[in-house]
Amino acid sequence: MIPHQEMELRAAHTRIHNFEEVPIGYSDEQARLEALRCLHCSKPHCIEACPVGIDIPGFLRLIEQGNPGGAAKKIRETNFLPAVCGRVCPQDKQCQAVCVVGRSNTPVGIGNLERYAADFERIHALIEIPAIQEPTGKRVAIIGSGPAGLSAAYALTIQGHEVVVFEASHRAGGVLVYGIPRFRLPIKVIDEDIRFLTKLGIRFVYNMVIGKILTLEDLLHKEGFNAVLIGTGAGLPRMLDVSGSNANGVYSANEYLTRIYLMEANRFPNYSTPVSAGKKVAVIGAGNTAMDVLRTAKRLGAEPTCYYRRSHQEAPARSEELKHAEQEEMNWRWLSNPVEFMTDEDNFVKQIKCERMTLSEPDETGRQKPIPTGEFFVEDCDTVVMALGCSVNPIIPSTDAEIRTNKWGVILVDNNTCETSKKGVFAAGDAITGGSTVIQAMGQAKKAAAGVHEYLIGKVNSPVPSTSD
Ligand SMILES: Cc1cc2nc3c(=O)[nH]c(=O)nc-3n(C[C@H](O)[C@H](O)[C@H](O)COP(=O)(O)OP(=O)(O)OC[C@H]3O[C@@H](n4cnc5c(N)ncnc54)[C@H](O)[C@@H]3O)c2cc1C
Ligand code: SF4
Repeated sequence: MIPHQEMELRAAHTRIHNFEEVPIGYSDEQARLEALRCLHCSKPHCIEACPVGIDIPGFLRLIEQGNPGGAAKKIRETNFLPAVCGRVCPQDKQCQAVCVVGRSNTPVGIGNLERYAADFERIHALIEIPAIQEPTGKRVAIIGSGPAGLSAAYALTIQGHEVVVFEASHRAGGVLVYGIPRFRLPIKVIDEDIRFLTKLGIRFVYNMVIGKILTLEDLLHKEGFNAVLIGTGAGLPRMLDVSGSNANGVYSANEYLTRIYLMEANRFPNYSTPVSAGKKVAVIGAGNTAMDVLRTAKRLGAEPTCYYRRSHQEAPARSEELKHAEQEEMNWRWLSNPVEFMTDEDNFVKQIKCERMTLSEPDETGRQKPIPTGEFFVEDCDTVVMALGCSVNPIIPSTDAEIRTNKWGVILVDNNTCETSKKGVFAAGDAITGGSTVIQAMGQAKKAAAGVHEYLIGKVNSPVPSTSD
């Protein structure tokens, strides 16, 4: 068997001084060798495990044959963001998790090969504008330009509808731009995808918060849209409710990353938004977002420490994210539950107080609960970033009583069409899951776009939400 081809990474001691992408990429020969490892299974489980059903063995065959441009074209049949997905998809939990080669060896590096094909296509300017159906005369408003909004915009434009994307911020991309760090997803990749969508005729309206400036009713009854699709994500951060949570220097991960990546606070005062870069940054949580914050803080020159109430083994971050953060030498405080942030007389955070935890016996699901020990410790910090997850943004449901949500604020939709409880209004992405992945958001957006298309061409569905409350 041909050995698995590891993608080379920039060395940890150099990469922590800049925001350059960490993986360097495959050479043509490495890519060909890695693609050759595919067994071309008669029943490819990898395709079933991909939320958008990419013909994985099909594109691997083209790489094998020395045709990466053709491979990218093949991926684009079902996924128009291959360069993004090759970089950020959790392949270890999806296609690669079920790859037959993985039963006895390292699975085929599907994500790395997707990235390789997409980069080849971009660098050689091979991206083709797809055929667009005759204009239908129907207009669709899409709210939010994250992976869900962009995917729906793409699918509906191809079907001949006129699409306008309304975005609250000044840039398109959603979390791809304001959350995922540049050293994992370079901005040039996203900018190229947005340029491509603009070339298709999609119009982007920036700095437009729907629910505040225009309402759903305005879009449907004053602005002349025949349908609306909500793709506003889950950007409402969860914070710890402990003393000092409101102190100066305490951020949510969303705010911290948005300041740096969307508002370019690391270039203050050349850009107008500042951020407390800090020397001792306390990051609360150990999921993927926490890893992004730790690694970002390190690149801003801080000494970051991760505080997590469970142990290393239970850290929810993907193993690769955790490994990369460990290579970059963070401080780790496992089994440590923050109970207070102490401040100075001007209410700036100065110290973090944690209770040491221990783990219970495993419960019926096998998970061990953190149990307080009654022992505490205090450490210095000048910045705190809480990476504890997010909830759905409430602006749209709170400004339109017809939009039903469950008790967590997640927008309820029909499982088949993604139509909400308001006629002609559909939703997709994190807004209907409460938080998921880029590719899941894209998969749902495809389904929602099909629902909108059916609605627009006459087969009106009954707007009864069937997502469980
Ligand atoms: C830090 C971080 C790292 C992540 N890393 C990964 C990863 O590596 N891999 C992965 O698969 N997933 C990752 N995720 C999750 C993934 O990014 C999301 O699941 C995905 O972006 C959801 O897409 P979306 O389009 O539903 O929402 P979003 O990407 O959140 O986009 C929503 C957009 O709607 C806009 N908006 C919100 N409200 C309004 C309004 N009222 N009017 C107009 N516009 C509005 C927002 O400004 C935003 O641009 C990460 C998430 C975070 C926070
Ligand atoms: S499961 Fe693995 S070996 Fe089989 S077709 Fe997919 S990538 Fe190839």
